[in-house]
Amino acid sequence: MTTTPPTHETDDELDSALVTARRQLERAAAHIDVDPGVIERLKHPTKVQQVSVPLERDDGSVEVYTGYRAQHDDVRGPYKGGLRYHPEVTAEECTGLSMWMTWKCAVMDLPFGGGKGGVAVDPKSLSSDETERLTRRFAEELRDVVGPTKDVPAPDMGTDAQTMAWFMDAYSMQQGETVPGIVTGKPPVIGGSYGREEAPGRSTAIVTREAVDYNGRDLSDTTVAVQGFGSVGANAARLLEDWGATIVAVSDVNGAIYDPDGLSTHDVPTHEEEPEAVLEQDAPETITNEDVLELDVDVLIPAAVGNVITADNADAIAADIVVEGANGPTTFAADSILAERDVQVIPDILANAGGVTVSYFEWLQDINRRQWSLERVNAELEEHMLEAWNDVRSEVEAKDLTWRDAAYVVALSRIAEAKATRGLWP
Ligand code: NAD
Repeated sequence: MTTTPPTHETDDELDSALVTARRQLERAAAHIDVDPGVIERLKHPTKVQQVSVPLERDDGSVEVYTGYRAQHDDVRGPYKGGLRYHPEVTAEECTGLSMWMTWKCAVMDLPFGGGKGGVAVDPKSLSSDETERLTRRFAEELRDVVGPTKDVPAPDMGTDAQTMAWFMDAYSMQQGETVPGIVTGKPPVIGGSYGREEAPGRSTAIVTREAVDYNGRDLSDTTVAVQGFGSVGANAARLLEDWGATIVAVSDVNGAIYDPDGLSTHDVPTHEEEPEAVLEQDAPETITNEDVLELDVDVLIPAAVGNVITADNADAIAADIVVEGANGPTTFAADSILAERDVQVIPDILANAGGVTVSYFEWLQDINRRQWSLERVNAELEEHMLEAWNDVRSEVEAKDLTWRDAAYVVALSRIAEAKATRGLWP
């Protein structure tokens, strides 16, 4: 496979979301004929809202946190993306992640643009009552810029279905009517979708299955190592095992269990079922998280955190295919090294996009006030993933691109065409 020549040999610093998003935009633009004015517009977010979020603590004292909502582009539909509660949330990080969401929604052909936001707070330092008050006030501060047809938040790091329920309730109270479509990732009892939680893992598994098939192999002859046994990693591992693959290693933050004959992943508790319990399971061997990445397997699925495949270990990756379950697990420098070595990297914006795709289904269900069965959600997800896979595969074949470049080309072509068709106002 021909690839774009590497321009970085080392990771000078690990990639920030904004740097990565801008770099990918430029790389994709180099492969298609697109109006430079459109690229210039896409380098900048439409709006980055910064708000103060005062919170009365349980002891009566008051603290003020800073919250953000970055809205990158909405040419194809409302902004869409998570809200995270984390001490290191910044305007720049939210902006980069919102651009990433623009590409992800476009590669999946969803009628959404990219958004991301959050509050710079350590969620572990707050009681449940405090988190509820913080969320309600944050929802109020963002009320003018969000809405079911404007900007639709979702859970992210440090937030969950309950956070979304509070956000939706606060927004609905002020609107004077129940507005379930204001957020996705809610509990099903108030308009959430079945299958939302396992969707990013399911899409990662579907894409893995297609990549194995594309390489002329059978899942029953395929070995897989998975880093991270949380929502994404565990769901992907279990589905792939159900479909016949041999999962030889799974890990959590403390390390991995390894069995060359295959693990029973349904017996290993997920992060949610029992946090950090992977090493307590019976297995012939335990290995480190670094070892997991370098195992001689057919498929490696990094599904824990970002920046784990770097210039330092890219040469040691022995898998033929890397499927990015996590967001941003491969640095730019590592990506070039893997491409040179003909290791196929199926990018995050395609692999884990089942999450935002089922969020889209949730939004459709909310707007139509009609809940879908789990079977329907999974069938439609399968269909969407196959369409996106085939769109990206066509670009890989037509332009001889890496899978990552091809995914960005598909995304950018759609956004650029929409911008060119709508024109620049006024
Ligand atoms: P999670 O919290 O459910 O699980 C994370 C897992 O990774 C845990 O098993 C944890 O022990 C392990 N882990 C944490 N730090 C680690 C480290 N340094 N090395 C090895 N393992 C480590 O998280 P998740 O929801 O599965 O998310 C995983 C990744 O997937 C993240 O990059 C996230 O942004 C991305 N993602 C998640 C979703 C989603 O909706 N859950 C959607 C798209 C992308």
